[in-house]
Amino acid sequence: MPEDVLAADLPEATAPAHNRFTTAILKLTATCNLNCTYCYMFNLADRTYHQVPAMMSADVARATISRIRDYVVETGLPQFSLALHGGEPTLWPLKDFELLARQVQDLRDSGVEVPVTMQTNGLRLRPELLRLLDAYDIRVGVSVDGPARYNDRARVTHGGRGSYARVARTVEDLLTKGYGQILSGFLCVADPDIPPQEFMQWAAELPAGIDVLWPIQYHYGNLPWATGELDSYRRKPRYGTWFSQLFADWLQRDPVVDIRLFEQSVAALLGSRRHFDALVNDRLPAFVVNTDGRIELNDYVRSYRDGGAATPYNILSEDILRLEADREFRFFLELGSHLPVECGQCPVVDLCGGGFVPGRMDAGQEFPSRRSVLCYDQYHFFDFVRQSTGPLIEALRPAASR
Ligand code: SF4
Repeated sequence: MPEDVLAADLPEATAPAHNRFTTAILKLTATCNLNCTYCYMFNLADRTYHQVPAMMSADVARATISRIRDYVVETGLPQFSLALHGGEPTLWPLKDFELLARQVQDLRDSGVEVPVTMQTNGLRLRPELLRLLDAYDIRVGVSVDGPARYNDRARVTHGGRGSYARVARTVEDLLTKGYGQILSGFLCVADPDIPPQEFMQWAAELPAGIDVLWPIQYHYGNLPWATGELDSYRRKPRYGTWFSQLFADWLQRDPVVDIRLFEQSVAALLGSRRHFDALVNDRLPAFVVNTDGRIELNDYVRSYRDGGAATPYNILSEDILRLEADREFRFFLELGSHLPVECGQCPVVDLCGGGFVPGRMDAGQEFPSRRSVLCYDQYHFFDFVRQSTGPLIEALRPAASR
């Protein structure tokens, strides 16, 4: 494990030129009916929401789908994903949802596979919206941060009240009204204050799987250890220890709980190349369209400074294909080619790949070229995964690859 957090020069890009965008994140709104304490849109460094309209216009939504259509025709991509975000996307007018859904369907009818997911706080999943989402096969992920007493410390209304009970009611409604098929799962930010066994007990009772995310708020301007506490943090990193305990519990339960980070970590050790963003870190093939059409870098780089995700482009005037040539987008499309130099000899680099991107951000550097400030946590966790599954992986690995 590396001993120190060191600066590193940006390595040259060497990835093949065929890396493409595969996902657009649409900010349907720049407003929210919750005020979560850690929110990267409203409560960290970025203040872009002051500059953009509260709601995406129908023109911007239409232009986005039209640009995506051009892009898949130009590149021959068989699939392009949409992620509907905000703010809170369910606050977007229903008539605009209908318009967008019809345009997506036209694109699908032209032969392109277009998976669409919406990430919501779950407070406003009203019947007419559920009907529409179901009709157009738009899947829903619900954000919730563990059992009620933990969730309600961070996921609060603008008046400071917890949200868990209301979210639980709308999810229950969704299930009893026959829309269970659109629930893709739950999204949860890691909270080491939750005893791992209590978390797993709670997760086991959820009606769908769960993703547990590394915290997004840490970067070189906000380290996960307090000043002067690096040595003790290195010995027992808070998030890495928590994730490892969770993983041990998950394995012991004969992994009945669907936790994406854990499943994909094991799959990656077995040689799978399918994984989500917090693993492997070989590429980050998404761009964001904000409510006024401005195109931004992935949300992962929004938290470290005001305007950290900004680019000079707008979907109303820019082809997506041209974005591929932009230096910043190319860096993220070819992320694996820019492995921080400190990570080269790391025993878990195949899983960690330099660390979850928000932790690599540094206001003093043009690109996130340093290893993540969560390195100690990520090393601790990935090493634990590797060691605790070693014999199992060896037994499952195809004979030819041993
Ligand atoms: S690959 Fe991950 S764990 Fe290894 S040195 Fe880099 S950031 Fe740290």
